[in-house]
Amino acid sequence: MSEHDAAGWIEPTGLESFDDNSFDDNKALWVEQQAETLAGRPMEDVLRWAVDSFGDGLGVMTALGYSGIVMLDHLRRLVDNLTVYFIDTGKHFEQTLALKDEIERRWPIRFEVLTPAFNDEQIESLIGPEPWRTNPDLCCHYRKVEPLLRVLHTKKAWLSALRRDQSVSRSGLSPIEIDGRGSIKIYPLVDWTREQCWSYIHEHDLPYNPLHDEGYPSIGCRPCTSPVLPGEPERAGRWNSMPKLECGIHVHAPTGVRRSEA
Ligand code: SF4
Repeated sequence: MSEHDAAGWIEPTGLESFDDNSFDDNKALWVEQQAETLAGRPMEDVLRWAVDSFGDGLGVMTALGYSGIVMLDHLRRLVDNLTVYFIDTGKHFEQTLALKDEIERRWPIRFEVLTPAFNDEQIESLIGPEPWRTNPDLCCHYRKVEPLLRVLHTKKAWLSALRRDQSVSRSGLSPIEIDGRGSIKIYPLVDWTREQCWSYIHEHDLPYNPLHDEGYPSIGCRPCTSPVLPGEPERAGRWNSMPKLECGIHVHAPTGVRRSEA
């Protein structure tokens, strides 16, 4: 019996034909099948399966929210010298950047930092002053989406720490999906709750963003993140005077491509 035959191990699957980020019927079918296999499985099993199945073709990206910290703590035990992608929008809180540095000091993790192609001045000359007020979708495009698109195609699948209980727009997530760009996304923490994440963080004395203790359950760029009141949804403080819910990094696939449309 190999070490992987223990209960909880999920047999990895070859993916040689799915090496691009595009919609493909075979890929969609394969993802549907894996979603059934992974549904309800513990986070550790899903992570192990992703690492075994995709190897170097697995990318990891996080904005270092508290569920991202839980995911990294597990992943660093499975992958030596883990590389993690982090998009530095130029508008992060200093606490977020300090957390990134602390993680690099404490854990054998290297951050691959992606920055916007344009600086603040250039972005403002393109879409006007304080673009997070006047055109947040374009601001997010230049600061977040464009850096993401530079690396998206370099991996066969991406890990992300999204959870169903974060917002209505995430409540229909599967543990694996094809997103709106044709990329395979894997969400090992999809079934975890806020309470579970915080218990794990405190129990294991993990580093986390101190803003979480000041009423910020979800932390993005400084101009677009506010504290929330007790009982408000986790992402209520993001773009809170606007109808915007997501920054454009996470996009759902059109109906019919994805199993559980949010
Ligand atoms: S979150 Fe706000 S500041 Fe950051 S990129 Fe989006 S609109 Fe701009």
